[in-house]
Amino acid sequence: MLEVLMKIEALLGLPEGLEAVSSEVTDQEITLTVVSTQQKPCCPLCGSSASRVHSQYRRHLTDMSCAGRRVRLILQVRKFFCDEKTCARKIFTERLVPFIQPWARVTTRFFQAMEDIGLATSGMLGARLGKRLGMPASWMTILRRVMACPGASSERVVQLGIDDFSFRRGRTFGTMLVDLQSHQVIDLLPDRAVETVSAWMRMHPEIRLVSRDRAGDYASAAARAAPQARQCADRFHVLKNLGEALEGVLARHLAAHRTSQAQQSRATPLSDAPSKQPPKQSPKEAELSQAKREERLPATSKLWLYANRASRKWLLPAKSG
Ligand SMILES: [Zn+2]
Repeated sequence: MLEVLMKIEALLGLPEGLEAVSSEVTDQEITLTVVSTQQKPCCPLCGSSASRVHSQYRRHLTDMSCAGRRVRLILQVRKFFCDEKTCARKIFTERLVPFIQPWARVTTRFFQAMEDIGLATSGMLGARLGKRLGMPASWMTILRRVMACPGASSERVVQLGIDDFSFRRGRTFGTMLVDLQSHQVIDLLPDRAVETVSAWMRMHPEIRLVSRDRAGDYASAAARAAPQARQCADRFHVLKNLGEALEGVLARHLAAHRTSQAQQSRATPLSDAPSKQPPKQSPKEAELSQAKREERLPATSKLWLYANRASRKWLLPAKSG
């Protein structure tokens, strides 16, 4: 039995100072009862070592999965008397950091795995993946881990990219600031007001380039708070604006073309106009254009058409050969 426990301990990689005393393995789960063996733990307040045990209690923790099985640790933790007379803390619980943080319900490595999964996927997807890997966590837990990740340093930014993002699509917006040299998001601002952005830029006199959208707010914020910086429109917004401008031009041309066509047809007397018979379609072309017409029809008309499909076939030209 002892040998089996030692193997499980080695397999799960329990740190020094923790010892497995019993285990239970099922198809889905490995439950390990673990005791602390550390000698004379130190008081977290004064740092003096203690040896008098006050009491003990159990903590239930989730650890990283093993071969797809969920791993649960039942940890027996001791409380000690602090005998240092000057110390304000009379009783303390032994610490097991870095393997387990105080008050945590999962091990530190489980937390780190959640962080990695969240960064690689997202909240909802991460929750689904975690469940399949034997590490269940809610999407909110995963998002909290991702949000708690330390961001890139925003101490110095020479080339700044700035754009808005939405907290609620189309309603509330914030501002995202990107270091264009490291390609990292360095800060998020709660809105996109000129004052907020200016205040941020004033704290960064080292900015030499501001790449922004083509609206006025960020331009005036940069002109006000970072006059030393050169401003440019970013590629995304240049292409977006080009697309919008082209769309407008083409729409105007199309309207003018249609107007001139309508004027021409009014000017030509009906009797003199050459009869415009549509070119005769082959059976395949007729079916294709019929299918396209069906796509454009509203749902009720489509239902009627499908119900009368047999009779409709009589209307189609007969297949030659
Ligand atoms: Zn103490």
